[in-house]
Amino acid sequence: MPRDPRYDVLFDAVQIGPVTAPNRFYQVPHASGMTNALPHVRAAFRETKAEGGWGVVCTGAVSIHPSSDDSPLPFATLWDAKDVRAHALMTEAVHRHGSLAGIELWHGGAITMNRTSRIAPLSPSGMPWCSTHLGFMGNLRPRAMEREDIRDLLRWQADGARRARDAGFDIVYVYAGMGYLPYEFLLPEYNRRTDEYGGSIANRVRLVRELLEVTRDAVGGRCAVALRISLEELRAKPGTHAATEAHEVVALLADVPDLWDVKMDSSPTDCAPSRFSAEGSHEPVIDFVKKLTRKPVVGVGRFTSPDLMVSQIRRGVLDLIGGARPSIADPFLPKKIDEGREHEIRECIGCNICISSWHDGVPVRCTQNPTAGEEWRRGWHPERFTPAAGEASVLVVGGGPAGLECALTLARRGCRVTIADAANEFGGRLRFETRLPGLSTWGRVRDWRLGQLRDRANVSLYPGSELTETDVLGLEHSHVVIATGARWTRMLYSTIEFPTEEIAAAGVYTPDDLAAGTVPEGPVVVFDFDNYYLGGAIAEHLGRQGRKVDYVTTAGSASAWTFMTNELPLVHRALGKAGVGIHLLRRVAGFDGEEVTLADVFTGDEMRLPCRSLIVVGVRVPRDELYRALVARGTELARAGIRSVTRIGDASAPGAIVHAVHSGHLFAREFGDTPQAAGYTRDFPV
Ligand code: ADP
Ligand code: SF4
Repeated sequence: MPRDPRYDVLFDAVQIGPVTAPNRFYQVPHASGMTNALPHVRAAFRETKAEGGWGVVCTGAVSIHPSSDDSPLPFATLWDAKDVRAHALMTEAVHRHGSLAGIELWHGGAITMNRTSRIAPLSPSGMPWCSTHLGFMGNLRPRAMEREDIRDLLRWQADGARRARDAGFDIVYVYAGMGYLPYEFLLPEYNRRTDEYGGSIANRVRLVRELLEVTRDAVGGRCAVALRISLEELRAKPGTHAATEAHEVVALLADVPDLWDVKMDSSPTDCAPSRFSAEGSHEPVIDFVKKLTRKPVVGVGRFTSPDLMVSQIRRGVLDLIGGARPSIADPFLPKKIDEGREHEIRECIGCNICISSWHDGVPVRCTQNPTAGEEWRRGWHPERFTPAAGEASVLVVGGGPAGLECALTLARRGCRVTIADAANEFGGRLRFETRLPGLSTWGRVRDWRLGQLRDRANVSLYPGSELTETDVLGLEHSHVVIATGARWTRMLYSTIEFPTEEIAAAGVYTPDDLAAGTVPEGPVVVFDFDNYYLGGAIAEHLGRQGRKVDYVTTAGSASAWTFMTNELPLVHRALGKAGVGIHLLRRVAGFDGEEVTLADVFTGDEMRLPCRSLIVVGVRVPRDELYRALVARGTELARAGIRSVTRIGDASAPGAIVHAVHSGHLFAREFGDTPQAAGYTRDFPV
């Protein structure tokens, strides 16, 4: 299909200093969890985006010196010549598709604890950058930088820039954002220096200016020099000569970099989760930058709508449409717009599972795109599928995330696929969960797959079809996939931290009961030891309806695991706003229909709360009765022509949606082939 002319502007070339981006789609630097130890995995991950039409593809943060050591979090290095080849694999891969390659040179300053290098962290004035999360805490205070430390830093940046040029990069960054070293100099409360690098705004900007200058000198006109800067905090500070300090910083550096890459300051606002922020949420902070510089500006905002992208350009907010998450969820987003297939874009749902991978210290995972991070090691391409061997007809029972993904991937491999679900609508757990506060965007997991399935002639969809083993035996499919999901239990939590027996009292419910329409009588207590989003979302939902709700968890924070997805501070805020009482580090020890007894997890001290409905969000078990019943039919399966029965998704091992999608994809990709013994190819440093 031809491109919609409304979107032509997105395909204009953009001059960035000495280089030219072929279009306005710019994959900004983002963490991938892929260190120099995974150079082929990393190159293929970035290459896929270039192939998908991103005109610029950048690395994540690349440390310029061992004094910027983020371990145990994964980070890339460009410390000496030995690191060059690993990065060159990526630039060569990106260039194969006519895109530019950018590198985010990075020094973490006081944020990095240098756990491996054991060098005292560097900072403007020796102040720690505190964190409320254990993984980011350290006991070593940073050292205040002397003048010679600043000279060293400038030399490391220049050396890094030269190596970046040698590795083939087209755009080289100075990174003054997100609490890292150059940003630390910008904040007046944190930078307490009394020399020419502290005090007035011109002094605080000096280090960033010098970093830009040494980078430009080092790359010798071959590469563009980009400045990535966080402006949220500065925008909140009134300026002396302009509206805010952000205006002053941008005015002082206006045309020094070849490109402005503008962003927010902390992960929860910068990489804002969809539960709490809409697409384009950065605009109120960064909208002024283009008025103060003649150089191109790139920014992000979880952009997946081409109309919003065009609007950003037409209204003079951005020149280049930055994408991190949208490029992970659909590396082929630009190509789809270019080919008039924008309705096929697999839109990011803003769940931030990708960020959790970085916190976990592993290569990136994505809920929407199960091929992310698997391009090289499993050979999974997001858009290309090898035909399945033989004439297969597959029945998928259950149309939740696992079943839908499995059915679609099998269909893309040319199988005849039938997918049935007991419910009148497909979507599985999403049918209920997307009705909870902020979670409607997650429905894209279902909607994109259903849309794709409906477009295919080799797929039959049967909603409203609860299948028994007898039904399955009679349906004449050669392979059966069971994706029947999981059920929540009423299990409580023992003193030694594992699930214990189910509580049988009346007035005890699970999320499945709420999904089935139960309206709990107040006062309500939500007991959460699942610790991801659902317990918090249910409490918020009920609290917003005006019920008295108390949220109890064995963890130290509400929805504790959402620290990994940037949602935790926002969950606490939302619960507070909904009037929900929060009780941390407690487990439910008893419930008599009128009151619930809570025990402190450390001391055992007890307290009571009024409660008529206790909602337990704890443990799920596979809903695998159909699987077991079929397997028990033994030889009848063969007589019915059924060659395999396989469980996938929550019916196999209950997990988050990302696990279900990956499980469905894995089965379908390997269907009919001999799986690799090791699962995937192992990467090695070059
Ligand atoms: P997953 O996350 O693994 O995809 P879900 O719980 O989201 O699991 O979805 C499982 C789906 O399977 C639900 O929509 C449910 O209605 C459906 N299902 C469960 N048992 C049957 C059955 N016997 N026949 C048809 N559909 C079923
Ligand atoms: Fe988007 Fe979630 Fe995928 Fe991240 S994991 S890119 S937030 S869909």
